[in-house]
Amino acid sequence: MTDNVHAHEIHKFGSMAERWWDKQGEFKTLHAVNPLRLHFIQQYTDLAGKRVLDVGCGGGILTEALAQNGAESLGIDLSGDLVDVAELHALETGTTTVNYQKIAVEKLAAEQPESFDFVTCMEMLEHVPDAGSIVSACAKLVKPDGMVFFSTLNRKPKAFLLAIVAAEYVLNMLPKGTHDFKTFIKPSELSQTARAAGLELQGMIGIEYNPITQRFSLGKDVDVNYIAAFKKQA
Ligand code: SAH
Repeated sequence: MTDNVHAHEIHKFGSMAERWWDKQGEFKTLHAVNPLRLHFIQQYTDLAGKRVLDVGCGGGILTEALAQNGAESLGIDLSGDLVDVAELHALETGTTTVNYQKIAVEKLAAEQPESFDFVTCMEMLEHVPDAGSIVSACAKLVKPDGMVFFSTLNRKPKAFLLAIVAAEYVLNMLPKGTHDFKTFIKPSELSQTARAAGLELQGMIGIEYNPITQRFSLGKDVDVNYIAAFKKQA
């Protein structure tokens, strides 16, 4: 078991487990951005028949979509309640190519190095004590030449205003207290940490929100929320 976890974070997300799949509920933003991140991932890799790991999978919004689009996916999270919800949802939708496990990514990396074609880790790095340790474990788990995808929030004043003040307090898009600005990660920091772990940046895109249309889209603005693709050096 790793110590690289904040118990309060696991409790916070786990306590909302039964509402994870409510598209109008607390996690509506994850539902809204899911097709966008899936699209970004598919620009770099064909999902068909690929073995994929989704780290910090929550209730399985991306994990299940990856499986439904052809991959054989494993979702891991340290919240047992969320793993249960994810498994139940896969049963309900009859998605048979997805599995879930409550295990720390560092432990899985020690047990099964280089066993996944690609690894995803979305909206999770900003919730752990040591994001670098998660990045290294993801790098270790992917096969040489495989891809690793991370999304997180940028430590810029604009992200404080939009992702915390607006999203949590004004627009009620996220539960209050979801994010702590100090834990946000600049793209340059993520790239450097990834490079040190043997991952080379392939591309990065912003996840933008338009408050007028109330829609998310992919675009050039990485100042708030962004998603990045890395390739493991062979
Ligand atoms: N990746 C999912 C969920 C993001 S919410 C998605 O984008 O749809 C953040 C998730 O990270 C929660 O499910 C929480 O339980 C998980 N988490 C937080 N710390 C973790 C850790 N140290 N190890 C594994 N999962 C963790």
